[in-house]
Amino acid sequence: MASKTKISWTEKTWNPVMGCTKVSAGCKNCYALNMISRFEGSKGWPDRGEVGVTLFPDRIGAPSKWKNPSNIFVCSMSDLFHDDVPDSLIYDVYEEMMYGDGSRHVYQILTKRPERMRDIVGRLDELDFMRHKVNLWHGVTVENTDNLWRIDVLREISVVNKFVSFEPLIGPVHPGLEGINMAVVGGESGAAARTMDLTWVSDILGAANTAGCGFYFKQMGSVLSAKLGFKGAGTNPSDWPGWLAKKHTWL
Ligand code: SF4
Repeated sequence: MASKTKISWTEKTWNPVMGCTKVSAGCKNCYALNMISRFEGSKGWPDRGEVGVTLFPDRIGAPSKWKNPSNIFVCSMSDLFHDDVPDSLIYDVYEEMMYGDGSRHVYQILTKRPERMRDIVGRLDELDFMRHKVNLWHGVTVENTDNLWRIDVLREISVVNKFVSFEPLIGPVHPGLEGINMAVVGGESGAAARTMDLTWVSDILGAANTAGCGFYFKQMGSVLSAKLGFKGAGTNPSDWPGWLAKKHTWL
């Protein structure tokens, strides 16, 4: 499945894997699992919901067919580094991203399982080549202080572009962002959303400035947005405080 997306820091999604299992607090209201539960069994969707992953190897070559160079979020409906995704499929995904027509795109690969990302990238024969691939962005999610360790693992990976997604940000994190190229911050959306505090956001912005890391603010989240008198997830930059409104451009 490949589609346009409302996720503002990317342009398209590419899902050669769908489905996942929850690993940490940020997964509590997982959008992907909710969508899969809603549409499971429909055309293009897995037959089952929150019971692991479903592989779609026939989708591996899709980006090669997309003519216009785009920013592509890899596995928006899963985690590419989930234990149930075989190494062989991950290697095929990397081959598509790195060679041929597929390499005209920029790929954003986000995980909550960075040890496997580190190990797989380390095992790729093309490691030397990958160190120079500017079209690959490798990222980890950090939703609270319990998961700051993921940034340390990300630093160990020999790739050019690294990002951290602080979304849904559900607590103060006080991160160090040295060696990271981009930080994305957003509050949680949806009926069961947990709140985000703007002081947590400004703290991350300060850390990004100190480290020379880019900063992208995605949304306030449903709770903070409602508190400030706005509707929805607070995605409109004109509703944000001035110090955030200009922080809405991916590097
Ligand atoms: S790792 Fe991502 S896709 Fe998997 S359950 Fe957690 S939030 Fe959902």
